[in-house]
Amino acid sequence: MSQLPFEKPGEFYRGNLHTHSDYSDGEVSLDEAVKTYQRNGYDFVAITDHFIPQFDFPVVDTRPYRSDDFTTLIGAELHAPSLENGEYWHILAVGLPLDFESTRENEDGPALAARAAKAGAFVGIAHPAWYGLTVEDMQSVSSAHAVEVFNQGCAADSDRGESWHVTDVALTEGYRLNAFAADDAHFRNSHPDVLGGWTMVKAEELEPDALLGALKAGDFYSSQGPLIHDIAFNGDQSEVEVRTSPVKSMMLIGPKSRYTATHGAGLTEHRFPLEAFPDGYIRLTVIDESGKRAWSNPIWLDSI
Ligand SMILES: [Zn+2]
Ligand SMILES: [Zn+2]
Repeated sequence: MSQLPFEKPGEFYRGNLHTHSDYSDGEVSLDEAVKTYQRNGYDFVAITDHFIPQFDFPVVDTRPYRSDDFTTLIGAELHAPSLENGEYWHILAVGLPLDFESTRENEDGPALAARAAKAGAFVGIAHPAWYGLTVEDMQSVSSAHAVEVFNQGCAADSDRGESWHVTDVALTEGYRLNAFAADDAHFRNSHPDVLGGWTMVKAEELEPDALLGALKAGDFYSSQGPLIHDIAFNGDQSEVEVRTSPVKSMMLIGPKSRYTATHGAGLTEHRFPLEAFPDGYIRLTVIDESGKRAWSNPIWLDSI
């Protein structure tokens, strides 16, 4: 069976994995934070407030917002010492138990991430580009499932929303991680840090456990607008066929300088030859007429 989500049973559900409320430094209430996503067509949201003593280590209970057509994942943004550059780690943990224990003395970022993963969480390395995270930092978090390759808040705050560079370098070295986009919403009035990037998670039902399992399995892609309907390999794996909503560019990207691309108005499908990709991984980026992008997870060529 394909490792890709597109042929698996279920539907794609749209969600934001990185959201702050006034349980930490978000500028709106929990109610407003959740409902912003609900009324903008999302299927789920994870509230991930800053898990630090200043805010009394919040793991916010969002279960009252769950219904038949909207759900929530319980999470937090975890902090501990330290990146190579001395900054405190920012690690997203989605799927935490409500009683997740406060950060322990002498617990560093990788140890805290491992404890969150052991407690059942999907672990994401937040916004590498914004705060100078290195490949070595990334590789030290052996429990991580994914890297936040696009962060709308960082894009709006400091033009450091994009983290594909450090991720591609790590992937090229063989480190296998998935990739997600999120808002890191703080609901600032002054600039747009909401509704800028999200994940599309393929799951059999809109239930927290199903979504969490799909996230950990990599059954998702990320978007700012375009839809990825399918990525499928032909029988001898010499080609990959891509189907999307209308876009103007489709790019297949691999290790080092490898890529192949097609451009034109209203593209919805393309067949990419794979001879330029002898090993490692491929990933897809598509860009629509308004410049909005969607990104697949890395696809490892030895496991299709
Ligand atoms: Zn952060
Ligand atoms: Zn954050």
